[in-house]
Amino acid sequence: MRTILKFGGTSVATKAALDALVRIVAEVSGERAVVVSATAGTTDALVSAAEIARNGDGPGAERIARELEAKHRALVVDLFGRDELPAAMEAVRELSAITERTIELLHSVALLHELTARTRDAILSYGERVCAPVVAALLSARGVPATAVSAATVIATDGQFGNANPRLEETRTQALAVLAPLLVKGTVPVVTGFIGATGDGVITTLGRGASDYTAGILAAVLDADQCLIYTDVSGVMSADPRTVKDARPLPMLSYAEMAELAYFGAKILHPRAVLPALEKRIPVRILNTFAPADHGTTISGSAVLDGSVVKATTSLGGLGLVTVQGVGMSGVPGFAARVFDTCAAENVSVLMISQSSSENSICLVVPEDASGRLRTALELMFRAELQRHDVERVSVEAPVAIVAAVGEGMRGAPGVAGRVFGALGRAGVNVMAIAQGSSELNISLVVAERDRDGAVLAIHGEFHSGSDRPA
Ligand code: ASP
Ligand code: MG
Repeated sequence: MRTILKFGGTSVATKAALDALVRIVAEVSGERAVVVSATAGTTDALVSAAEIARNGDGPGAERIARELEAKHRALVVDLFGRDELPAAMEAVRELSAITERTIELLHSVALLHELTARTRDAILSYGERVCAPVVAALLSARGVPATAVSAATVIATDGQFGNANPRLEETRTQALAVLAPLLVKGTVPVVTGFIGATGDGVITTLGRGASDYTAGILAAVLDADQCLIYTDVSGVMSADPRTVKDARPLPMLSYAEMAELAYFGAKILHPRAVLPALEKRIPVRILNTFAPADHGTTISGSAVLDGSVVKATTSLGGLGLVTVQGVGMSGVPGFAARVFDTCAAENVSVLMISQSSSENSICLVVPEDASGRLRTALELMFRAELQRHDVERVSVEAPVAIVAAVGEGMRGAPGVAGRVFGALGRAGVNVMAIAQGSSELNISLVVAERDRDGAVLAIHGEFHSGSDRPA
């Protein structure tokens, strides 16, 4: 049995969390590899240190790095106490060395007023690189032999700094050379999440929040039997519990459902993170470090038909609804293409599209702060049509939210849309636009931001309090 365990930022940030981590790792039998994030808040602090340095403020950037060093020192003292401190000597030495090196980098950035993506990655890698040695020292001190491993020696990537793509074959070779011998002799490698290195050994990062991805990649290349992602919630819920008091944890979720939910802002794994593991049919579980007995959510590669129709209801706010409207648009080929070309030229990502079959209007949902800019660009693109009144107007409604009902059980189930809209009607929520993908996995609708919570409550109530509530 081979298990990859990944611990997120809050799971490595405090003594209480790390005590729990040790217990969790100790209880897993067989071969174990651990992947760690930076401690909570550290990567954000590094991002701002890098920005401050770019603006030329070397001392300001150094101050942040010193604070991070102090924070990690305090954590080490908390964990080991004065007596056990020798066990953490190596970790403390690493902490100082990596801090000094990072401060040098920050000062160079400040001197040049230039922050390349490559240098930024080197700076951001600090968080994981100082965390892994602390976790390894703690595990060893508590009787679980462990050793810190920099993912720069394992995860091979391309040179797309800030969002590097793993090279799986090289990664497999390196993982077998670096990690497999440790696993076999019962030593737990504690691998830095989030980072990798190019063929030349230059540090890259896999994107914000990508420690999960590291775990998924390692599970795949090491042919693990399971991949356990420990975070600070007990898996994925049927709705945001801050809005919906009776939201329930979801024991099983398909990859497609997870991808839909993640896209609409549910704070779960990035879909990319679990793909390598799921492609190899390795189960991925999301578990809670602070409530390890909770069942959590298992992500499976295939559809999970558990009798539920809408499995989860989610929402994403802070958006604008941009509508291009006019009778002269219908039947004109290439019209939609020009709309989307404009979005691309303005670098605006479109979250949802809806077009009436009369083709009299195209609606786009975009981030609110981009909606005004997009409207101006569209008016410019269609200025001739606007003059001729082929296009009547380009309008923006904001702030709006997308509310999405997601579930594999919706596929081919008649009447789902009717129930969704019935529930919204009874709740007095006005629906501004609708979209359903042909996968029938998701019904998305646009409502005014002020109706967002009401819409989520109405849909969740319709599907989760009645008879088709899954066991
Ligand atoms: N520390 C990185 C970040 O905050 C990676 C992670 O936490 O997964 O983005
Ligand atoms: Mg994180």
